[in-house]
Amino acid sequence: MATKLLLTFAICRLLVTVGLTLDPTELLLLGVDGQLSFDTADVETDSLDFGLLTRAAPPLAVLHPASAQDIAQLVQTAYGSNFGFTVSARGHGHSINGQAQPANGVVVQMSGSKLRASGRIMKPPEPRVWPGERYVDVWGGELWIDVLRSTLEYGLAPKSWTDYLYLSVGGTLSNAGISGQAFNHGPQISNVYELDVVTGKGDLLTCSEEQNSELFHAVLGGLGQFGIITRARISLEPAPQKVRWIRVLYSSFWAFTRDQEYLISLHAQPSSQKFDYVEGFVIVDEGLINNWRSSFFSPRNPVKISSLDPNGGVLYCLEITKNYQESTASTIDKEVESLLKKLNFIPATVFTTDLLYVDFLDRVHKAELKLRSKGLWEVPHPWLNLFVPKSKIADFDKGVFKGILGNKTSGPILIYPMNKNKWDHRSSAVTPDEDVFYLVALLRSALDNGEETHSLEYLTDQNRQILRFCDDAGINVKQYLPHCTTHEEWMDHFGNKWDWFYQMKMEFDPRHILASGQQIFTPSF
Ligand code: FAD
Repeated sequence: MATKLLLTFAICRLLVTVGLTLDPTELLLLGVDGQLSFDTADVETDSLDFGLLTRAAPPLAVLHPASAQDIAQLVQTAYGSNFGFTVSARGHGHSINGQAQPANGVVVQMSGSKLRASGRIMKPPEPRVWPGERYVDVWGGELWIDVLRSTLEYGLAPKSWTDYLYLSVGGTLSNAGISGQAFNHGPQISNVYELDVVTGKGDLLTCSEEQNSELFHAVLGGLGQFGIITRARISLEPAPQKVRWIRVLYSSFWAFTRDQEYLISLHAQPSSQKFDYVEGFVIVDEGLINNWRSSFFSPRNPVKISSLDPNGGVLYCLEITKNYQESTASTIDKEVESLLKKLNFIPATVFTTDLLYVDFLDRVHKAELKLRSKGLWEVPHPWLNLFVPKSKIADFDKGVFKGILGNKTSGPILIYPMNKNKWDHRSSAVTPDEDVFYLVALLRSALDNGEETHSLEYLTDQNRQILRFCDDAGINVKQYLPHCTTHEEWMDHFGNKWDWFYQMKMEFDPRHILASGQQIFTPSF
């Protein structure tokens, strides 16, 4: 161990001598309870993310923190350092464009840090459920699947989700955290009461609506720019036991979006008179249809997709759910029937299944396991997520789904609307300036199978074409999980929030130490 440290020290010294910024003595003297690792495997792992689009230079070290104090100590060292180094929290590394990777700095491994160090098991605090108050306190690196498991022990669950649960709390709260419940409960950032945050000065602060409220709002949707979330207090509700999961098909985009918008307009109705989850997806090619049918659609009521004569070769699938308890199962048929009666999908295309709430929430993990077994999970993911204003969604359909995409999609394309009034305008998250806007998520995988339309280059170019088309057509989209490469693009992304965003950065991370992988601010050393 001592030899390894000495070697690391010598290498880092050399780097400093040739002009890089980190003085390793500052790190080696860091007295943390967790573990500061210079291990090659550790640093190599943290130079990659889910996107597999870029391989960053490996970080100089990885901190596996045992507590928020460990993180505060690291950031204080970076802040006070003559040389300076960057610090990036890494949740589960499910970013696409290197957002959790620091340039020439230290990664704080927030998730999966339950490791053995100094002969002791080091682990950050387990979730603590407060059943009476209906909230849970969780470590910032906790995965949502583990939050769910903990709260279900008390018959409770968070209200707002992402489609996939193997993401960290800090990672999704740094963006927004959205899924089909957002129309009703707002994004995950609208369902947080309190945070503990280590700022870019190394201060560990508690913040909420009432206390340090500027920091609270800035951190939510703040792309990791103002602090590292070490604890989040998340709102809970009684967990339903079961879910009725329904899919219906449309060939008319107009009818599809009209029904989606109608369903989300019911958000203020009593729960018996609305669905609990509203999403949808676009079906462009046969391959996807096959995949989609085998994963869900019951052989009891098969439908011949080719017989539906899709308009322009594109079909749209509305996906909705209704939660229920076993004890009220008798009323669910009636409630669903009366809601479905108001919709205008293609007759005889109703597909229904009932499953446990936890199985519904964890549905994407099953797809992950399937893709992993075929070697199709760890491939490049040139994903593009856009918020599209309602007034322009038909233009987007015509230009992108029925235009640019051609007849190959290389992955699912989600589309669902949300109500802007469920988003707190004081947070850092950026959405279009309309009461209703859509998420369009092009979740595509690049494959090296010789087909041009599956190649990374082809898909990346198509993403550029889509953004250019929106620009030319005056569709004021906002990127979700944004990736910009110039200062002007970032200013444009934040629009009238930019001045405030900048001011918050100067207040809470004046040396631009945190989350440099987002490429919004350049470290000032
Ligand atoms: P990372 O990639 O590790 O980090 C993301 C950013 O947050 C980085 O800048 C990092 O520095 C910062 N960060 C991480 N932890 C903290 C912390 N504790 N405090 C402050 N900053 C921190 N998103 C949705 O909204 N809805 C979905 O349905 C959805 N589904 C997805 C499905 C898959 C398969 C994948 C890969 C992603 C999905 N996402 C979805 C996107 C996901 O929410 C973001 O990529 C999120 O950032 C991933 O969380 P992570 O823990 O892996 O974060």
